[in-house]
Amino acid sequence: MSTILIVDDSRTMRKMLAGSLKNAGLEVIGNAGNGIEALQFLETNTPDLVTLDITMPEMDGMEALKQIREKYPDQKVIMVSAAGQKDKIMEALKLGAVDFIQKPYDPDVAIETIKKFI
Ligand SMILES: [Mg+2]
Repeated sequence: MSTILIVDDSRTMRKMLAGSLKNAGLEVIGNAGNGIEALQFLETNTPDLVTLDITMPEMDGMEALKQIREKYPDQKVIMVSAAGQKDKIMEALKLGAVDFIQKPYDPDVAIETIKKFI
């Protein structure tokens, strides 16, 4: 079973995404509320994929992506973006994110996007 780490500062978003992933037969092995928590989780876990929200307190998704790519170059990361973040998405793809999911989030599209990579 493929394993996922969900990184988002919105608890509601984490719950919704976890529910959709579970329905699609994917295993959520961790939740993080910001980039710092995500990096801590990755020290001892190797998920098949990370979904990474862009806007978060403490450490945002852009900084987290840079550090994840530096420490774990093979780690697959999908960005989760809000409307109006096109520039950040383009930058994230350049930095090595494999794709992105747009909020407000459509479960079917999100699962389809994730399943391309696991
Ligand atoms: Mg956020």
